[in-house]
Amino acid sequence: MKKVLFLTGAGISAESGIRTFRDGNGLWHEHNIMEVCSDIGFMTNRTKVLNFYDDRRADLADKIPNAAHQMIADLQREFPKSIVNITQNVDDLFEKAGCKKTIHLHGELTKIQCESCGYIKSIGYDAIGDHSICPFCKKEEMRHFVVMFGEQAPEYETLAQMLEETKLLVVIGTSGEVLPVDDFAGEVPYAILNNLEPSDAIEEECFSLVIHKKATEACHEIAQTVRSFLQTEQTKVEQ
Ligand code: NAD
Repeated sequence: MKKVLFLTGAGISAESGIRTFRDGNGLWHEHNIMEVCSDIGFMTNRTKVLNFYDDRRADLADKIPNAAHQMIADLQREFPKSIVNITQNVDDLFEKAGCKKTIHLHGELTKIQCESCGYIKSIGYDAIGDHSICPFCKKEEMRHFVVMFGEQAPEYETLAQMLEETKLLVVIGTSGEVLPVDDFAGEVPYAILNNLEPSDAIEEECFSLVIHKKATEACHEIAQTVRSFLQTEQTKVEQ
């Protein structure tokens, strides 16, 4: 049974130098979100959107995971059957940290997908222009593998299933503007929230523990809580 579910957002990668959307110097301030992150924006100006994601992808090349990513990778190694890692992030810092499996709800920047046949290709930090032809169907219809506003997110179904099996939910670095993390907290027996500050979109009373700190500072307390939770669960099973 999956017992601990980590659900993360842009805030966990902020200290690795990847900007969030909503913080002070966030990406929101430089870009019109509906132009570069929505299905309509993509239909209106395909090149602008592909360039935006090329920039985001190139920006990842020299970024390294921080202690919070590492904490999840370590716990996955320690408790391989009990930790599920689900993220809204499109960066590759969990993979760089050595996480065994990460479910990316909104896609991955280092991959592109053919709009015609659905083929998914990893391109690392390259610009999409170097890979514009689909290796499978040969059509020139490759696009970023990122879910934009107005598009379906197929992995939301996986998240719903995982929540049903969750005993402890740990939410880190999300404003809750995209996903109703407080509703999720209400669905599980125990839930932890770590953000820098309160968010208008999150009812913090739904969480059993709220930590307003940088993720790299909070992660030690979080790791300790998860370890003692899982050890207690283990003892219950053995009795
Ligand atoms: P958001 O930008 O809306 O909110 C960021 C949250 O992280 C805030 O609540 C803030 O308090 C918190 N935060 C900031 N720095 C933190 C730190 N050091 N430690 C702990 N918490 C910190 O992010 P969101 O809720 O993930 O929604 C934005 C959407 O944009 C997501 O769907 C995601 O796909 C996408 N996005 C992804 C990345 C990425 O892949 N790294 C970056 C920007 C945006």
